[in-house]
Amino acid sequence: SAAQTALVDKARDLIPGGTVNAITPVKGTEFVVSRGEGPYLYDVDGRRYLDFLIGGGPLILGHAHPRMVEALTESVRKGTHHMELTDRTIALAERLVKYVPSAEAVRFSSTGSEATFHALRLARAVTGRSAIIKFDGAYHGHHDLATWSYEDAPLDAPIQYAGSAGIQPGVAEDIIVLPYNDATAVEEYLGANPGKVAALIVEPYQRALTPVPGFLAALRESCDRHGVVLIFDEVVTGIRTAPGGAQELEGVTPDLTALGKAISGGLPLSAIVGKKELMKHFDHHSDPTQFAFHCGTFNGNLHAVEAAHTTLDVVIEEKGYQRLAELGEYTRAMLARVYADAGITAQVTGRGPLFHAYFTDKPVLNANDVRSSNLVFNRDLHLKLREAGIYKSFPKGYLSIAHDESHVDAYGEAISWAVGQLA
Ligand code: PMP
Repeated sequence: SAAQTALVDKARDLIPGGTVNAITPVKGTEFVVSRGEGPYLYDVDGRRYLDFLIGGGPLILGHAHPRMVEALTESVRKGTHHMELTDRTIALAERLVKYVPSAEAVRFSSTGSEATFHALRLARAVTGRSAIIKFDGAYHGHHDLATWSYEDAPLDAPIQYAGSAGIQPGVAEDIIVLPYNDATAVEEYLGANPGKVAALIVEPYQRALTPVPGFLAALRESCDRHGVVLIFDEVVTGIRTAPGGAQELEGVTPDLTALGKAISGGLPLSAIVGKKELMKHFDHHSDPTQFAFHCGTFNGNLHAVEAAHTTLDVVIEEKGYQRLAELGEYTRAMLARVYADAGITAQVTGRGPLFHAYFTDKPVLNANDVRSSNLVFNRDLHLKLREAGIYKSFPKGYLSIAHDESHVDAYGEAISWAVGQLA
């Protein structure tokens, strides 16, 4: 409608790039969301979209789950913000320690970026070293300790994409970027640079790239051998793939783990969990030579904590993990079939409720394989899918327990239609 177009234009003017850099220069593709329910989003004109992006991943119960509405309404009655310990915060820490294999102690923050930032800061404080190893293409948040090596960048772009037009953050020389799924490169670097590296940070499943057998275990061994803190960034995989996240499924235990997104089903909550012998250095009464400063006005925010309890209750009681795993299998099989029928070469990857398609005939093991896949094609298809009522979930997405097979089938039909339109 004209009213919606006017709102989008106002946003273009007032909110450069939109809330999460989503405003594109392509006019006519944007809309303004008014509400969500179950697997759907509605725009201000009342048009309905199937949502496989679920708020960038957090909403594993879907939108406005009745149990979440009830819990948060009750939570608001108890007051909004205290900045103190509460019984519910302590109970949540207990639950995370119970579920996440490597968790002995917990610190809460509000966003995934804070969780990775403070995990890295703690590793530096404890080891007294400054360098960090990360993997090419991994995203650990929007702070300068984890600059993004942009996997969607052109092949000839500089590998360290700081996100700010050629300006490298001051710490960039301390960030070593190696290829995901290459444990030999890690061992070689650590062997050649003794005493230099504080931490190795890895997404156990880097987006939807999955580890080759033995990769994560080899990282664990290299870190032990060279005194490096192993950090799993489970902001995407934590709580979502299993109560204990990818470390439970893969059987490899990191020293520290960053959790975020799905742990609170849509409210801003994140956590750093890990071994007590490391985590104790967040305590400001600890040894000042190894102290890591961690703070945050909204840490352990009450509504977010309540939302986390509700998310865990519902997903466990309703056998959500089994459903998400089955629906994930179904979705990946459907996508592989749809692309094959359309004569499109694609690799469909992911685990559990994560799915991602890469348009290449080679196996996709690292960011260079991603860069070699056909991305231009993706964008056109993305726009067509929007026309078909699919919200931004191309070529990757997340499933929630609000989704069922009929929604996945509708997604497949929309892709077939969109491909037909492009041909
Ligand atoms: N780590 C990973 C693996 C992520 O995917 C993200 C967010 N996309 C972050 C960290 C940062 O989380 P946030 O956006 O909540 O700061």
